[in-house]
Amino acid sequence: MKASKIDGRIFAENLRKKVRQAVTQLPDSPALAVVLVGEDPASQVYVASKVKFTEECGMNSLEYKLPADTKETEVVNLVKKLNENDKVDGILVQLPLPEGMNSDNVIKEIHPDKDVDGLTEASAGRLSLGKSGLRPCTPTGCVMLAKDELGDLSGKHCVVLGRSILVGKPAALLFLEQNCTVTIAHSRTKNLEAVCKSADILIAAVGRPQMVQASWIKKGACIIDVGINRVPSVKRPGKTRLVGDVNYTTAKDVAGSITPVPGGVGPMTIACLLRNTVIAACARRNWETPSILNF
Ligand code: NDP
Repeated sequence: MKASKIDGRIFAENLRKKVRQAVTQLPDSPALAVVLVGEDPASQVYVASKVKFTEECGMNSLEYKLPADTKETEVVNLVKKLNENDKVDGILVQLPLPEGMNSDNVIKEIHPDKDVDGLTEASAGRLSLGKSGLRPCTPTGCVMLAKDELGDLSGKHCVVLGRSILVGKPAALLFLEQNCTVTIAHSRTKNLEAVCKSADILIAAVGRPQMVQASWIKKGACIIDVGINRVPSVKRPGKTRLVGDVNYTTAKDVAGSITPVPGGVGPMTIACLLRNTVIAACARRNWETPSILNF
């Protein structure tokens, strides 16, 4: 058996189309404010993509670029101003912030109604209490891909490998929300291979290149690989290539379906951010959320 490839690029493109369509149904265009502090090259690329896709979806994009030596209080003050700006529906502070700046102090200032990254304590609390709110983007993308592949997830055993605040923990809660039986595995988990092998759905979010081997996978399982790891290229000496946390080459012979890296979960993150911006705008401005965004 060979696993079917879960194509996150196509799924994300379709989701962006749905966001664009949803925006046309609204009385006004939502606006996303993106704050970038410093000149980290990867962050600059991410922010440029976020701006491009926001505009492509018919929404307004407001970009705030601050030098790396900006004081933490100035970033906090900017976030406070964006909270008060009635034209702004979503606020995203690009992480990581420059060394010496405490991202918690900045993120906690984002108003929960504008927290399109779903990273504030209020958003995390709403998620764990099962209350409506803005959900973190990457884990939401994982649920969307799994549901698209498997349909109803009720009763399936989902193992989330990794317990970070950004990915693992919210992913576990989101799969629980889908009525999965959820196990969270991490660096202290005993018999990790056996735990992973018991999964109908395996979410790999460890940041360890190709750690999950074919022998860790139950026959026919759905594998969602969140990992993005840069490793030396064998074919092109001196160059690097991206691999996930799962050994795709061997895993695909055992799994039922699997996301590739790149082209799996990665593209879903921005698409879910755009969706969150529309959801935030609708909740804040008392508009009905277009049903095309449901999943
Ligand atoms: P973190 O480093 O914050 O968390 C990694 C988690 O993996 C921790 O909970 C850690 O356990 C666990 N872990 C590490 N090593 C092992 C091990 N040997 N055995 C078992 N568990 C282990 O990473 P993130 O959650 O932020 O990211 C995970 C991966 O996802 C990274 O590759 C990152 O680049 C990628 N990513 C991709 C995104 C996308 O858009 N596709 C977005 C965000 C992240 P413990 O808590 O015990 O230390």
